[in-house]
Amino acid sequence: MLVIGGGPAGAAAAIRAARAGVRVTLFEKGLHGRDKVCGDGLTPRAIAALHDLDVDISAAHRIDGLRMIAGKKRRELAWPTTDRFPNHGAVWPRRKFDTHLIDAAVTAGADVRFGTEAMPVVDGGRVLGVTAGGENFTAPMTVLAAGAQGAAANLMGAQRQPDEPFGLAIRAYAATPRHAERHLEACLSLRDEHGTPVPGYGWMFPAGDGTVNIGVGALSTMKGFKNLNLNTLLDQYAALVRDEWSLGSYIEKPRAWRLPMSSKRRHGPGWVAIGDAAGFVNPMNGEGIDYGLESGMLASDLFIADPVSAPERYDREVGERFDAFLRTGRRFSFIIGHPLLLRSGLRVAVGTQAAANVTLAVMGNLIDNETPGVAGLVMRLADRVLGIADPLLRRTRAKDR
Ligand SMILES: Cc1cc2nc3c(=O)[nH]c(=O)nc-3n(C[C@H](O)[C@H](O)[C@H](O)COP(=O)(O)OP(=O)(O)OC[C@H]3O[C@@H](n4cnc5c(N)ncnc54)[C@H](O)[C@@H]3O)c2cc1C
Repeated sequence: MLVIGGGPAGAAAAIRAARAGVRVTLFEKGLHGRDKVCGDGLTPRAIAALHDLDVDISAAHRIDGLRMIAGKKRRELAWPTTDRFPNHGAVWPRRKFDTHLIDAAVTAGADVRFGTEAMPVVDGGRVLGVTAGGENFTAPMTVLAAGAQGAAANLMGAQRQPDEPFGLAIRAYAATPRHAERHLEACLSLRDEHGTPVPGYGWMFPAGDGTVNIGVGALSTMKGFKNLNLNTLLDQYAALVRDEWSLGSYIEKPRAWRLPMSSKRRHGPGWVAIGDAAGFVNPMNGEGIDYGLESGMLASDLFIADPVSAPERYDREVGERFDAFLRTGRRFSFIIGHPLLLRSGLRVAVGTQAAANVTLAVMGNLIDNETPGVAGLVMRLADRVLGIADPLLRRTRAKDR
């Protein structure tokens, strides 16, 4: 098996397959210890996936819940205890987290080639393998784990769907005496420099190492998205939280990156796409590490069971697990692209304890097609209702300035 990309998704696929005795070669264009622009937040769902992957997580900073802020309203909730996910998450700066995972892949026996860009070799619609460092490699399955879509995805026809939403987010690190806190903080009532409400949120994710990961993210469905200046938005947010967090100045220059939320294709003869490369990011919180880990493990499990049918089965099974929820999230993002609807939505989202519990489940990536209880019911209903309203939502989406 060949893997293009050594982020959490690619590393999870490599660990799983190599431990089962599959010959795995993984290509990572960055060097060992490369960083990834991220909020560094691991949801309870991600912790469950890391347990499933049998990876030691003792170095991560444990997180017990989420503080949601919308205007003057604040709610601090503990992650719920469920049958499927533990009641805690973590913050683990990506430079360390990703290195830990990729090292686990090497220990499992994967041949990991750092500083090596790989491109798929496509012949008559089938991916035969990759070309990397002047060499050709072939395998029954190539796993595209290259993150937000680029050149490799283009060759496979796995680009982002142009009419679907996507996100942009920026993050920095800063010193704070509150670095060891055990709650994430999300400010849901962001405004841009013109005072327009932004569908997205500002975050303070304490890393437990003297710093906090501070960032802001926004959805492409907002009015004025093309002119949105993320650096300004981050500075405004930092000014808002500076006193409460006794925030130091940014430790390094803030960095931004894309949040892909769709993909034209995620499988074909001889290949599958996992993680961000498949568009598996929750439009309602921009989180995707957990989906990356899960889709990576699933792709490898199916490959181990039967390399020939693996791409088809992967597409079906990953679709059953994620599609309805992510589709609902994308449709919802058209609604909150309208400032008025966003403002009323926020009042509902944190207005009552019951609604806040659903918001918490959404923000923790705890919902999918198998979720029991109120949160699951709300999402299944939303899938149906927003499905009917889909053409209207697209027609009436907020127009850019
Ligand atoms: C600002 C920001 C904040 C975020 N915050 C969170 C958060 O708090 N929690 C969360 O769960 N998610 C968060 N996300 C999303 C999260 O970062 C991604 O979902 C996650 O990194 C996806 O993992 P991946 O392995 O699919 O891709 P990536 O982590 O992007 O890894 C892809 C790898 O592929 C390599 N690569 C690319 N092309 C090639 C090639 N041709 N050959 C070889 N190597 C290649 C890249 O160098 C990279 O290392 C955030 C995203 C952003 C932008």
